[in-house]
Amino acid sequence: MNAYTYFARAFALRLPEIIIESDCGEHYTYADLERESARLAAYLTGLGLRRGDRVATQIDKSPHALFLYLACLRAGLCYLPLNTAYQHAELRYFLQDAEPGVVVCRPSARESFLQLARETGAAIVHTLGDDATGSLIDGARGAPERYDDAALDDDALAVIIYTSGTTGRCKGAMVTHGNLISNAQALTDAWHFTSTDVLLHALPIFHIHGLFVAFHTVLLSGARMLFQRKFDVAAVLRALPGATVLMGVPTFYTRLLDETGLTRQAVAHMRLFVSGSAPLLPATFEAWRERTGHTILERYGMSEAGMITSNPYAGERRGSTVGKPLPEVKVRVVNDAGETVSAGAPGQVQITGPNVFAGYWRMPHKTREEFTSDGWFRTGDIGRWDADGYLSIVGRAKDLIISGGYNVYPKEIELAIDALPGVVESAVVGIPDADFGEAVTAAVVKEAHCTLDEAAIVASLRTQIAGYKVPKHVHFVAELPRNAMGKIQKDALRTRFAAS
Ligand code: AMP
Repeated sequence: MNAYTYFARAFALRLPEIIIESDCGEHYTYADLERESARLAAYLTGLGLRRGDRVATQIDKSPHALFLYLACLRAGLCYLPLNTAYQHAELRYFLQDAEPGVVVCRPSARESFLQLARETGAAIVHTLGDDATGSLIDGARGAPERYDDAALDDDALAVIIYTSGTTGRCKGAMVTHGNLISNAQALTDAWHFTSTDVLLHALPIFHIHGLFVAFHTVLLSGARMLFQRKFDVAAVLRALPGATVLMGVPTFYTRLLDETGLTRQAVAHMRLFVSGSAPLLPATFEAWRERTGHTILERYGMSEAGMITSNPYAGERRGSTVGKPLPEVKVRVVNDAGETVSAGAPGQVQITGPNVFAGYWRMPHKTREEFTSDGWFRTGDIGRWDADGYLSIVGRAKDLIISGGYNVYPKEIELAIDALPGVVESAVVGIPDADFGEAVTAAVVKEAHCTLDEAAIVASLRTQIAGYKVPKHVHFVAELPRNAMGKIQKDALRTRFAAS
């Protein structure tokens, strides 16, 4: 079924009610959302886009950005959100790989996207500002206010989310309408969402956390959102008294804990605090409980599978665990031989279920590699069951850093550093960081006469890769530590830099 049709059935009786109350004073009802998404769907279809064609976006967070996403679902187009931090070279790769029929960018980026479109053969460039301006809005103004949603099967492509890879090459995870529906329903039920809920939405909407987990639970329960264009700790604190649920990455919680205004009284009426996208430190879990009287509910998921496990809403929420598998999702923890390990022993986390994606865009070989012969997806995470069936994520088989909730694959950064003149080689690791969870840190070996310093490396990388990927620290070393096989010992670097 078309995921939008599924959501629309759920909110059909709430059309006059408000769904979005934004930090700019805008109010949108469910009827507004239906009308605006219909117009955009009709306009995009009128441009000649066909089912499955990609609509790539690099736009600021706004209500109309959400309407555009829904329009793509309605028309059977594939929505492709791109992180707003991506730079020109990164964008070129995505547009070349995905071949979108339409690209929507910020008005200020129009010239550079026209250039990208020429370089990559993308057909049409439109703009959308966070104040509902831009050529897309102008174009859709006269379009019909009603739209018959495309009739789709569950396995129809809905969204491509790019995730970086251990090789440094990003992969497009193909998410289907069926994936979206099953996960949205599971979370709405598991977390007891109702139409009386008010979700404080301060997450970005180019990632599954803000776009799927937060937005879909609201749509399915007929709830309301306090919609903030970016995470600003003071603004979140001010808005909390009007909310019932907050979803955040661990950095939200550590920053809120730094505020003296975070008191029991400020959150007395809150029903639920959810954390995910990166590990929540036990210290944050405890400090939050002590300060607010609320126990954060930690869940675990990924672009390729939506949400996989969750701590219980009603039962005991255990710190340092990500809870139990959601209904219909199966999770197993296996050793290198593929045998199930017993509780307490670490192993690879593998999953199956209606939430698991359809594969990587135009990478059948990579897709085959990431699934076992009996059809389970290898998450790349290392997990451990406790005796009561709670899962803990204790490490990663994949070489991945999560900084402020964003994934950074070291290979990509290493390739960029190695390309700088005078650099011999580099290794990038994540170092524990109280604010970001992990801080991207580089070890660089340079040629004898090379004058590059930390500032020069950082400045150069800033023009090439998204800001959150740029190392927070650069250490120059005489050589990289290697094992007998010549493999760089990243653990040794992590220990050394963490100590310094
Ligand atoms: P993404 O695809 O950007 O959502 O990143 C997915 C990855 O984030 C997972 O494979 C995990 O490594 C990590 N992750 C997500 N949630 C958690 C969590 N609660 N605890 C630990 N790691 C997590």
